[in-house]
Amino acid sequence: MSKTNPKKLNVVKRNDLTPLCCHCNNELTEVYSKTQGAGFVVGKDVMYFCPHCLKVLGFAQSRMI
Ligand SMILES: [Zn+2]
Repeated sequence: MSKTNPKKLNVVKRNDLTPLCCHCNNELTEVYSKTQGAGFVVGKDVMYFCPHCLKVLGFAQSRMI
């Protein structure tokens, strides 16, 4: 990362592309999510996981009440 050009990053919206699961390389046309109540997810974290291999893709903070 260069310090001379901090605003170099371009974000291109590509709704025509389908992301791939980083674990099984299947197309993620949808992802599953799980919120608290599952027993092992703390607080209001939302866990996202692949519907094909069920591996966790990431976490996010829920804004739900
Ligand atoms: Zn997968």
